[in-house]
Amino acid sequence: MFLLNSHKSGRHFLQIPGPTNVPDRVLRAIDNVTIDHRGPEFAVIGKAVLAGMKKVFKTESHVVIYPASGTGAWEAALVNTLSPGDLVLMAETGHFATLWKKMADKLGLKVEFLPGDWRHGANPAQIEARLACDKEHQIKAVCVVHNETSTGVTSRIADVRRAIDKAGHPALFMVDTISSLASIDYRHDEWGVDVTVSGSQKGLMLPPGLSFNAVSEKALAASKTARLPRSYWDWQEMIAINSTGYFPYTPATNLLYGLHEALEMLFEEGLDAVFMRHQRHAEATRRAVRAWGMEILCKNPDEYSSVLTAVMMPNGHDADAFRKIVLKNFNMSLGQGLTKLSGKIFRIGHLGDFNDLTLCGTLAGVEMGLSLAGVPHRKGGVQAAMDYLAESAAKEVTASIHAEPSLIT
Ligand SMILES: *Cc1c(COP(=O)(O)O)cnc(C)c1O
Repeated sequence: MFLLNSHKSGRHFLQIPGPTNVPDRVLRAIDNVTIDHRGPEFAVIGKAVLAGMKKVFKTESHVVIYPASGTGAWEAALVNTLSPGDLVLMAETGHFATLWKKMADKLGLKVEFLPGDWRHGANPAQIEARLACDKEHQIKAVCVVHNETSTGVTSRIADVRRAIDKAGHPALFMVDTISSLASIDYRHDEWGVDVTVSGSQKGLMLPPGLSFNAVSEKALAASKTARLPRSYWDWQEMIAINSTGYFPYTPATNLLYGLHEALEMLFEEGLDAVFMRHQRHAEATRRAVRAWGMEILCKNPDEYSSVLTAVMMPNGHDADAFRKIVLKNFNMSLGQGLTKLSGKIFRIGHLGDFNDLTLCGTLAGVEMGLSLAGVPHRKGGVQAAMDYLAESAAKEVTASIHAEPSLIT
């Protein structure tokens, strides 16, 4: 491959928390001829992926697909619903929440950023208290990142919804699920979210290049009066044309083939089984980290991420030097610490197309890397993970015999 000057046998372990490993089935689906996006065949695929994404978002409302990275879908959420100078409440959960906040600043919104320590999720009580003070309803939207990919902390979205309701506040609720959708349970309709933002290259197991908005009727109504300028991101035209299976401009046709295949794979496995798989791999990873005697960045066990685990480096050791050693020796990419966590943590991605043995390989690479890099740790992390995987695999076999039919659909 053009990026590497020498062949490396075996697969690269892409264990960053996105982009994730793209399964062969998805790669093969993408590798089909590009068709006329205004021809009769295209509408079949257009309709199928839009319907499939509704199931993944758990919504009966609208889903919009953009040929863009997740950042584009962030922008779409804001410019479709808000007007210049509108006040927006955001929660500082980490690097990605900070980037979304900076985007809102650039777009001419006023942002109140509830401070956080990058080790906890959005605080529902803090959000409720702030909204309760806002008697004149100046705050037009509350924006929260569901899974903060920079820290491995998952915010409790249902609790944030309850907080907004307890304050009796009419603000729109917007959630970034770029790294959680199709990996961690998420319910757009049930949790009363108005705009959910997502992307293709994480739980959906696709290459980068697609992003999504799930849009409630309330958000769609807000878009009729919102005054931020928009053209490419405009929902109205998109939703109108989507009803026929087509798009207003050229969609990313081959990525939509991939999305179609990825959705089939998710439904074959069953979304609940997919979520359970991620939980189990996350728990095994945490057991490994504890056995190494290292610290998990996320402080609150109720907010542990099923998608990735951020591990703190002991003082005096550089996480990036360690990651370099792992890449060079074991052909595995681990996630780096972002902005204020740079050099202080590394992130183990355990999402997407992933199984018990991929996890064992990943953790073995980490454990060997710790030794090679001279990072103080205890042996036995991989063993602790294997013990848990073996123990919980046996339980799964027993459980599936008695499973309710609804759990295995
Ligand atoms: C990856 C990610 C983003 C950024 O998405 P891009 O596709 O890089 O634009 C935003 N938010 C979260 C939570 C992410 O994980």
